[in-house]
Amino acid sequence: MTSQKYKYLAAFLIALCLAVVPSWIAWGGWLPQNRTADNTAILAQTAANSPRFGLPIDCSLGEECFVMLYPDRDPGPEAVDFGCGRQTYDTHKGTDFAIRSDRHMATGVKVQASASGRVLRIRDGVADRRVRDEADIKAVNGIECGNAVVIDHGDGWESQYCHLRNGSVTVKPGDEVQKGTVLGMVGASGLASFPHVHLSIRYQGEVVDPFVGPNAGPGCNVPRNSIWEKPLDYLPTGLIRAGFAPELPNMERLWQGSFSEKTLSKDVPLTIFWVQAYGTLQGDKVHFKLTAPNGEVMAENEQILEKPNRTWMGYVGKRNTQERPIIPGKWQGEYQLMRGDRVLIEVDRSVEVR
Ligand SMILES: [Zn+2]
Repeated sequence: MTSQKYKYLAAFLIALCLAVVPSWIAWGGWLPQNRTADNTAILAQTAANSPRFGLPIDCSLGEECFVMLYPDRDPGPEAVDFGCGRQTYDTHKGTDFAIRSDRHMATGVKVQASASGRVLRIRDGVADRRVRDEADIKAVNGIECGNAVVIDHGDGWESQYCHLRNGSVTVKPGDEVQKGTVLGMVGASGLASFPHVHLSIRYQGEVVDPFVGPNAGPGCNVPRNSIWEKPLDYLPTGLIRAGFAPELPNMERLWQGSFSEKTLSKDVPLTIFWVQAYGTLQGDKVHFKLTAPNGEVMAENEQILEKPNRTWMGYVGKRNTQERPIIPGKWQGEYQLMRGDRVLIEVDRSVEVR
């Protein structure tokens, strides 16, 4: 069901926005400030006094957008998110708020300031080109953050927004911004393999995981003093998109936004019901079912996932043959992803075949 190619593409996400912050530092001339030997005590007081950060993206979280990757909390070469899951990768220094496709990106999804402050620096002019292979990664060497904005919130707090859409940055250094001020649009510039805004928060130059606050220490079994304005759920597994296709889908086409048609021609060679999800784990059970307008089950498949994937796609389908043509009417696709006895994703979609 998932070919090697898809597995490769999914694994490729690991490389996503690697080394964003080091390159940014080089570019922005950032230097640590006000470091003291008593840093721990300062940090301990800091969670309560920190700014409260709102969403960096203007969308309905869980519907039009979702948190795809979290900051890496493992100090070594492993990677763990604050929920002790694996929706992160080694050295990931921010939270990735993703949208579902390039098509959605093209409509213009606003990136907004998470808290009030003053713009320190910006970058614009980097093309929106999702990285797909080693050559793409090399091409963004030194500009991994893509089009970006850094905001100084005072008292040592900064926020940084990466991968904005080319030509969309609407602020300049020195501008005062309020929480919610539009900074630009969500894009895929720099080292991004899906359209999203990467938000890094720093206190005294140190990366802060906003889900646990500045005084948490490494690892995932730590007290959670979130500095989000409103608590954000930990949802490390979820649906990206689902739909029907007249040909075999692949991850690239899905990120582009293809295969969202509400109707299909009865002359297509294939009728495919596909699902794209994030945060699947080894041992998850997925169940697909494709039902014809006459109620006949044309394809059904259940499988146990053999390995985890930060992004995953799967599908079932029926070939259009002379003996068994694709009959007109409403075709239905059903899908469940189960972990143990919990249903984590449930999809029910239909398409009209004419
Ligand atoms: Zn990121």
